[in-house]
Amino acid sequence: MLRDLLAADLADLDARALRRVRRSLDTPCGPRARVDGRALTAFCSNDYLGLAAEPTLGAALEAGVARWGTGSGASHLVSGHYAVHDALEARLAAFVGAERALYFSTGYMANAGTIPALVGRGDAIFADRLNHASLIDGALLSRAGISRYPHGDLAALERQLAASEAKRKLIVTDTVFSMDGDVAPLAEMQALAERFDAWLMVDDAHGFGVLGPQGRGALAEAGVASWRIVYVGTLGKAAGVSGAFVAGAADVVEWLMQKARTYVFTTGAPPALAAALLASLDLIEAGDAHRARLAHLIELLRNELRLDRWRLMPSRTPIQPIVIGDNAEAVAVARALWNEGLWVPAIRPPTVPPGTARLRVSLSAAHTEEEVRRLACALNALEARPV
Ligand SMILES: *Cc1c(COP(=O)(O)O)cnc(C)c1O
Repeated sequence: MLRDLLAADLADLDARALRRVRRSLDTPCGPRARVDGRALTAFCSNDYLGLAAEPTLGAALEAGVARWGTGSGASHLVSGHYAVHDALEARLAAFVGAERALYFSTGYMANAGTIPALVGRGDAIFADRLNHASLIDGALLSRAGISRYPHGDLAALERQLAASEAKRKLIVTDTVFSMDGDVAPLAEMQALAERFDAWLMVDDAHGFGVLGPQGRGALAEAGVASWRIVYVGTLGKAAGVSGAFVAGAADVVEWLMQKARTYVFTTGAPPALAAALLASLDLIEAGDAHRARLAHLIELLRNELRLDRWRLMPSRTPIQPIVIGDNAEAVAVARALWNEGLWVPAIRPPTVPPGTARLRVSLSAAHTEEEVRRLACALNALEARPV
């Protein structure tokens, strides 16, 4: 019976320590959280600049609601596109140095819609093995051939590109890898894209607002620009609101507006969100102090950790993963931290490769030095005394 198969599938998740639970917060996003009456210091959000609960943004959202109401009422191409969406897109394009930008409701949708708009059956996609799930799903939806290269292995990428006879080629990569925290070699990848006449799509979900001058992102940091680069930034992480955008050459963005199904066939995001995002861009642009503080906390954590069995991954971004390996041990360590009032998520397969279960510490400019020290102390003690 169907129902029994489902029960067995759920039981299988339990048996492999892979069943996930949600924690319901009673407090706004930030390092000081309360869950079920328990006070916790949270190291799990992607709110890297501490903007998600920033009153200025709340005020901009309220003003946006007063001006534009709550819903957009239709898809963008029918009647759900507002002047404030235009203003946001123009601002985003200018901010990342692109000709034009298109605002999507989420990063998942931006990726799932952009890839199939750029390539299709008979074309070829070259994807880093550790790319985000939304890029993988976009690639599968496109029906193009998919070659996955080992993480960061540009020699393998080059071989795959050289062997391909596809008319349209698309290289796809995260900039900052979401579960590893390292940054893709964008200048070298751009050179390969040139050489093999490929598109280069970069997902800067964890770089936008954090990397580069004024937080303009990973491309600005690497100093690469080209009509062939399709840039995706997301707006629910460092930007502290919601949504995403794809930026690039005007003809590319025009094509996406015509063809990206996750743009065309969905209701436009509430225009008030665009108003909040315009305010967020002001804060990001003026946020050098936040970024400097974040860099300081990253260095502090790395200096304070004394790990031996576990492995702190090489990362200069706010994502600081500690690989434990075994699923059950990773969960046990996360639980022990939780009991000490420290909230760090355990990340298990399929989000990361089998055998590399890890704690994913993410830092925010809103953390204090004392909080970061306390986390390092707890981790050092737990590693020395297996749970
Ligand atoms: C979070 C994330 C996304 C999805 O963005 P959402 O706006 O949350 O849907 C896409 N790519 C990467 C690398 C991400 O980390």
